[in-house]
Amino acid sequence: MTVRQVLSGKGADVVTIAPDKTLAQAAKLLADKRIGAVVVSSDEKAVAGILSERDIIRALARNGAAALDQKVADSMTRDVVTCSMQADADHLMRLMTDGKFRHVPVVEDGVLVGIVSIGDVVNRRLSDIEAEQQALKQYIASA
Ligand code: AMP
Repeated sequence: MTVRQVLSGKGADVVTIAPDKTLAQAAKLLADKRIGAVVVSSDEKAVAGILSERDIIRALARNGAAALDQKVADSMTRDVVTCSMQADADHLMRLMTDGKFRHVPVVEDGVLVGIVSIGDVVNRRLSDIEAEQQALKQYIASA
């Protein structure tokens, strides 16, 4: 299963936020879109960082409510692990588990083209397992 297959089920929409926005704006965006992380980008193409709900929690724990006025750039992770459309989704699960993060932006020729969350990979995996089970049942019933 490739990242391209995972994205074909959920679409290529990626929510981004500019690095000079505040953590309050980022928190509202995450809540409105019902997502756990947002790619940080000034032009919606190049990945400057990633900001997840965990980064916001850490900033709040460190600085209290004042953290909400701080810039996204100050709390985001800059060293982002990305993947290509051709990447193997099982390999991605390993990367996420080892790196303890749940989101991987998809980049082609330096341009952001999608994002895969651990939920997307698990969903796709479950669908594949269900399809395999169904095929096996049919095979046994017709044998
Ligand atoms: P998450 O589990 O995705 O909510 O993120 C947990 C932590 O990992 C946060 O500090 C994120 O900024 C960071 N993070 C999330 N995704 C990535 C990624 N693809 N590469 C590097 N760090 C990430």
